[in-house]
Amino acid sequence: MSVKFEISFAKSARLSGGLAILLKGTDSELPAGAESADPANVFARAAPVAGFKSKTLSALDIIAPEASPVDRIIVIGAGKARDLAAHDWLRLGGSAAAKIRNVEKVAIFLDAPAIEVGAREAADFALGMLLRAYSFDTYKTKKGDDDDKSRKPVKVTIVTQEAAAAKKLYATSEAVAGGVLLARDLVNEPPNVLGPVEFAAKAKELEKLGVEIEILTEREMRRLGMAALLGVAQGSARPPRLVIMHWKGGKAKDKPVAFIGKGVVFDTGGISIKPAAGMEEMKGDMGGAAAVTGLMHTLAARQAKVNVIGVIGLVENMPDGNAQRPGDIVTSMSGQTIEIINTDAEGRLVLCDALWYTNDRFKPQFMINLATLTGAILVALGNLQAGLFCNDDKLAGELTAAGLVTDERLWRMPLGKDYDKMIDSKFADMKNTGGRHAGSITAAQFLKRFVGETPWAHLDIAGTAMGSVQDEINQSWGSGFGVRLLDQLVRANYES
Ligand code: MN
Ligand code: ZN
Repeated sequence: MSVKFEISFAKSARLSGGLAILLKGTDSELPAGAESADPANVFARAAPVAGFKSKTLSALDIIAPEASPVDRIIVIGAGKARDLAAHDWLRLGGSAAAKIRNVEKVAIFLDAPAIEVGAREAADFALGMLLRAYSFDTYKTKKGDDDDKSRKPVKVTIVTQEAAAAKKLYATSEAVAGGVLLARDLVNEPPNVLGPVEFAAKAKELEKLGVEIEILTEREMRRLGMAALLGVAQGSARPPRLVIMHWKGGKAKDKPVAFIGKGVVFDTGGISIKPAAGMEEMKGDMGGAAAVTGLMHTLAARQAKVNVIGVIGLVENMPDGNAQRPGDIVTSMSGQTIEIINTDAEGRLVLCDALWYTNDRFKPQFMINLATLTGAILVALGNLQAGLFCNDDKLAGELTAAGLVTDERLWRMPLGKDYDKMIDSKFADMKNTGGRHAGSITAAQFLKRFVGETPWAHLDIAGTAMGSVQDEINQSWGSGFGVRLLDQLVRANYES
């Protein structure tokens, strides 16, 4: 599917042709205005014979009767509409979007008389539509049958009594969708197209939204002493970049919040090379950096009232005559030394310098890093939840709550002195892997050694940033996981 939607809101719609979508809960009648699309109430006859019971995300597709001003009517089941959470409205919008084919205009009726369908619900429904409509087909030269027709944007009118307020909130939906889709694009791009330099150029485009961008080159990172990050990059013909994104939406005196992303544009494993099967998926090893970039887009586009730093470390991990070896010892920017045991445990080497730099320079209120860090987190949580590691209970609570609101769920994993010991090294201050057991936790312990006393959380998104379960609002391999989550975290707790 490659459909674009032009969404507007109105108190009523003059129907002539096209598609009408009606939302119906098991605990609600057809929405106000439904009779204009279905004057003969064909729905009442069709529902029993089709076995349609308004269950969540079920749909009844009706060719409109002669008396109707529209050509087709689709009723989407909302289940117990009284209990719908915010992310359920996204899903309803997504499933409606999936039904929209071969039409130029659509009217969507949401207002069920007995249920509070407010501006927020309408805007969330619209956001679900935008997220579902995404498809990454840049490199497909042969388009699908119906693609030509659907390339023109489909005009969608969402009919609600709260039209004016919904329109205002929809600006935020567009900002959120823009960030999620940017993150998906970055993850889906092939690694020959998106190297560190190209990724940095994409981040620089955020200047259009008022984000200040600094890009550090290899030489500048060398001067800062970022030998851990640079050690990962040294086997690649492509130079690394560190991008600092600065959104100044808060008061000048307010300390910033900081988000840090792992951006390994391709991870072969280096000299500790990975097996061939599935290695192509390692183009997504920059999912953390993609989420941070998408988040900065969203916060700037919706003019969030907060000061935000986004830092992404961009490198490629390749085997080469100049590549880092197991046994090498590097000195991180913090001064702490690291023995390289496995060159495939490279993400933490990139992050440790990025975290130290961010903390040292910006003294943020908190740091949250996102990284496709370990396969071990997939063993623990599958593709369904991201691992949360945190040194601060308040921040962990806020993150968990944001996960429940957005349905980008987090599961808190342990940290502790006994786990920390597992990365002590014979030859240096620490080693870059603690072995197979507790692999996600020892990776987190490693990062923790670089954050000082600053409240910090590490989100291991190896299972959720890519290849996650496809659903009503995401059909893409790169999911954009983390953008909605962290936007919600900021919105709920950190805006003045
Ligand atoms: Mn690796
Ligand atoms: Zn990696």
